[in-house]
Amino acid sequence: MLAKVRTVTLWGIEVVPVTVEVDVGDGLPRTTVVGLPDSTVRESQERLISAFKHSGLEMPLGRITVNLSPTDLRKTGNHFDLPIAVALGLASGRVPALCTDDLLFLGELALDGELRPVNGVLPAGRWARGAGLRGLVVPRQNGREAEASGIAVWPVETLAQMFEVLWEGRPPASAVPSGEEAPLPETGDLADVRGQAPAKRALEIAAAGAHNLLFVGPPGSGKTSLARRVAGILPPLLGDPAVEATCIHSAAGLLRPGSGLLRVPPLRAPHHTVSTAALVGGGAVPRPGEVSLAHHGVLFLDEFAEFHRDALEALRQPLEEGCSVITRSRYSVTFPARFLLVAAMNPCSCGNHGDSMRICRCTPYQIEQYKRRVSGPLLDRIDLQIEVPRVRVEDLARGSGGESTAVVAARVLRARTRQLERHGKPNGHLGLKETERWCRPEPEAGRLLEHALERFGLSARAYHRLLRVARTIADLEGAAEIRAPHMAEAVQYRALERGLVRD
Ligand SMILES: [Zn+2]
Repeated sequence: MLAKVRTVTLWGIEVVPVTVEVDVGDGLPRTTVVGLPDSTVRESQERLISAFKHSGLEMPLGRITVNLSPTDLRKTGNHFDLPIAVALGLASGRVPALCTDDLLFLGELALDGELRPVNGVLPAGRWARGAGLRGLVVPRQNGREAEASGIAVWPVETLAQMFEVLWEGRPPASAVPSGEEAPLPETGDLADVRGQAPAKRALEIAAAGAHNLLFVGPPGSGKTSLARRVAGILPPLLGDPAVEATCIHSAAGLLRPGSGLLRVPPLRAPHHTVSTAALVGGGAVPRPGEVSLAHHGVLFLDEFAEFHRDALEALRQPLEEGCSVITRSRYSVTFPARFLLVAAMNPCSCGNHGDSMRICRCTPYQIEQYKRRVSGPLLDRIDLQIEVPRVRVEDLARGSGGESTAVVAARVLRARTRQLERHGKPNGHLGLKETERWCRPEPEAGRLLEHALERFGLSARAYHRLLRVARTIADLEGAAEIRAPHMAEAVQYRALERGLVRD
């Protein structure tokens, strides 16, 4: 008897429908899985035998052939156990025929017959809803994630319950566990960082206008702990951005079991030894890279100058286009990758260049070589570049840390809302024409800008960056026009361009 059950596989983050076909024929008991399964899928038969036994169910006797169609696509993932088990049930008459036609099945089986959570449930649910299916059958722990797709969810806990539910022909009575909202990431409060008021202000502007940010300073200046705190002041994820970010994390297997949509912007902080493929995506079966895991969140690159040159250059496309296109001999895929880049680097290889308290032992040539590790075109994409000096001991001892994360986050949210109401995107994402249209300065601010361009010899690109940053500073203040003080502040954040960082 031939049985068919619906499931999906993921190609990158794209959902591809898969039909699991099971044929039970005469012959010696033996199971064969065909249709390009990877090793995880092939091992499924061992889990199935044990799960059936421990659930008090019998595997159909005879020669079992499992085919995963379309057969030319590599199937990967642990979620094929459940659809194969249901097809076996159909083939042996343990599941009523026809009841599974418009359901989609995903789930991994433990040896005792319990269902374990799997990856990719949210994208699969969205696909199933679009395809007009009746429901999504998933392990109970994936229930909240499945609900976020808007399709009817059939959360099940064990293989035995699965078969009962299919006989009844309706979702199980047990509701999806409500679970708790994921706690805020432990990035710490801004108020815990003493001193560094200019750097904190730069973080606030970066978060408000989605401007990429580079901190340059000696080791021990606290630039790393400052940069990590940016996720706490970004506006929370709502609507499509929350769904998009959650889909990518779900496909990559990074969602915590039991969680629903991501609400806090993700913060990704890959080490400087990261490979280009891990940073921008790739692999035999395409996987999203760090730039996509940071979609609608923050990509924090500490020791920016220490990253592999080709990895840094590969950042240019996502920074310019908001996506990462991976082209291999066998495929080409596009991953969304719209993130806030926050980078930190030392001023030279010993770290002491420009430090009034320590001596730099690098030669001018070495310092120049160190800065050249980050290319001009890449720096062009970083609106805010700021020096973070070592904090003096006196500053550490006295005074408070300033405003808390909550206070700054509220101001950031108001400023971001103004931008979205005005032109539908943050200032940092405006193109050249859009910048000229939306970021017109008042005459006095305009003169200040011209003067700064001449005096510091800044490029035409710098001109547009200054306008965008000044617009965000005005938005933080709630000002309708870009006035001279806003422009004067924006110019400060390009100070590195004339000295510390080559244009
Ligand atoms: Zn040095």
